[in-house]
Amino acid sequence: MEKKKLQTISLNKIGVDDSFWGKYISLVTKEIIPYQWSALNDEVKDAEKSHCITNFKVAAGLEEGTFEGFVFQDTDLAKWLEAVAYSLSYEKNEELEKLADEAIQLIGKAQEENGYLDTYFTILEPGKQFCNLKEGHELYTAGHMIEAAVAYYKVTGKDEFLNIMKRTADLICEVFHREKYENAVPGHEEIELALVKLYEVTGEEKYLSMAKDFVERRGTKPNYLEEESGKDWYVDVWHDANPYHPPYGQAHLPVRQQKTAEGHAVRAVYLYCAMADLAFFSQDKSLFDACETLYKNIVEKRMYITGGIGSSGILERFTTDYDLPNASNYAESCASIGLALFCRRMAQITGDAKYIETMETALMNTVLAGIAMDGKSFFYVNPLEVWPNACMEKTSMEHVKPVRQKWFGCACCPPNIARTLASLGEYICFTGEDSLWINLLAGAEISTELKGKKVNIKMDSSMPWEGKIRLQISAKETAEGSLYIRVPEYARNPIFTLDGKKAVPGIEKGYAHFKEDWKNQVITLEFSMEAHFAYANPNVRADVGKAAVVKGPLVYCLEEADNGENLSGIFVDVKEGLKENFREDLLGGAMEITARGKRVVKKDWEKESLYRLAPVELEETRMKFVPYCHWGNRKTGEMAVWVKYW
Ligand SMILES: [Zn+2]
Repeated sequence: MEKKKLQTISLNKIGVDDSFWGKYISLVTKEIIPYQWSALNDEVKDAEKSHCITNFKVAAGLEEGTFEGFVFQDTDLAKWLEAVAYSLSYEKNEELEKLADEAIQLIGKAQEENGYLDTYFTILEPGKQFCNLKEGHELYTAGHMIEAAVAYYKVTGKDEFLNIMKRTADLICEVFHREKYENAVPGHEEIELALVKLYEVTGEEKYLSMAKDFVERRGTKPNYLEEESGKDWYVDVWHDANPYHPPYGQAHLPVRQQKTAEGHAVRAVYLYCAMADLAFFSQDKSLFDACETLYKNIVEKRMYITGGIGSSGILERFTTDYDLPNASNYAESCASIGLALFCRRMAQITGDAKYIETMETALMNTVLAGIAMDGKSFFYVNPLEVWPNACMEKTSMEHVKPVRQKWFGCACCPPNIARTLASLGEYICFTGEDSLWINLLAGAEISTELKGKKVNIKMDSSMPWEGKIRLQISAKETAEGSLYIRVPEYARNPIFTLDGKKAVPGIEKGYAHFKEDWKNQVITLEFSMEAHFAYANPNVRADVGKAAVVKGPLVYCLEEADNGENLSGIFVDVKEGLKENFREDLLGGAMEITARGKRVVKKDWEKESLYRLAPVELEETRMKFVPYCHWGNRKTGEMAVWVKYW
């Protein structure tokens, strides 16, 4: 861990101009933000109702009615506002800013005198605030509101929202140091990382200290979350978490003693984000080591090849090492967002690109698969294998949807994806002391300063289809400093040039290091990145005898649209090479990868019984793989990432 951390770049200093990411970024302002505003206002036809804005109006006394929706429904507005804030940093939009300002005023009106803010309790359980931390989600909700307020303040300079949330945070800091709450922790982590953000923007130590207390208290005895329901002031909110299972909320052991990623995956990674933040601010080696141990457990034993985490549909949780079922899994979009946020923090405090590899995998596969290419429908659960007929209600598969949904009653994922895409610049590069760090090799224009001198970097990229990157660096006055460019682990034979001449930069923790007097230079990076087969550790029972196709950061999959039905009956010949063909007409322009293999001949089977003694016949076939992040954008059908091979 370094003494200084790398900073995420201000979003007004970076413009994403990339043929792959660009279409998603433009969707944020054109489609996703307006669409989600309609959803929050219950104006999307045939979609599940949100009730979110109505709840605020009722809490503010502007409308008659009651609270409806999930207990954490307020967070949908928070994440929407956070996405709006980020989008305003690169695209001015007065009308949208006015809408956001009005929403913020509404939040202010729904806030109680003492700073309390949560429409569920204000409407349904007045006087019962913080009387069920296990299920009440008030601290989780406050966390998302704080994140939104910090983002809105940073981008617009307006402090109304920030002041509203400082009042809520002040109340939390006061309440959670009372004797009654001396060992209290939130049932769903999020407030911890948000309080760190609030500390970073205000410099007020008490917020950092409260975040630290919440993290240090977790998993200690007596276990507040286990004992809470026995208190006479306890209020029933939701029966989801009864009886309380401490690992579900990472409350089974003090955080430094946790060696494996446990419980609800979103909760876990939000906690790890705060642990990484606090490890840095306290320069706490033991806390950092705990983060590293948990990170290793995830990437070495508990993560899908797509960067999905949380393999159990029951309780949306981690299970045991190597238990990674493909069809019945959870792999929530939010969990991969949280994993990307955790990895980003670890990279910021170490300057180590290994975390960026995982961050990129999560973002470019699971998170992008979470949203349709038109920005109007979403996956909450991200399976690696789908047979639509088996995704039935009232079965153990009912959480798996073969088609993206317009909205969800519990809509944590769609606005979370929106805020992630809107803040992509924060993932693309970091700034350090007199240095710029390129993480994602995506087309972008970046303005930064090196030793007080302005430098502009225009990055062109052919990723993720081809390993060709060009950086044009220009400065009016000569600027001294370092440029670090990530060389991905999947890049074979990377070759750099500087002003047309071959360059051999030193590689430090996965970044190529250039130190120059920058004035007007061109750096190119080329590497080969052919599609190839990947295999899982044999301990992953679900993938034994199967191969996946990957090319660079993208995982590919078979779809029924290209390969007909019954993808389980297809065997790929891994001794034959893969063929790549970029097709403009495929999924908005995408690489199609073809392979040779065999498939089961089904003729005569329909007439026979379920089993027979003769083996099946196989026939020659060619199969087509498309990027997993784009699956489900054509007709409904089967999908598979892992394919049987011989
Ligand atoms: Zn979610």
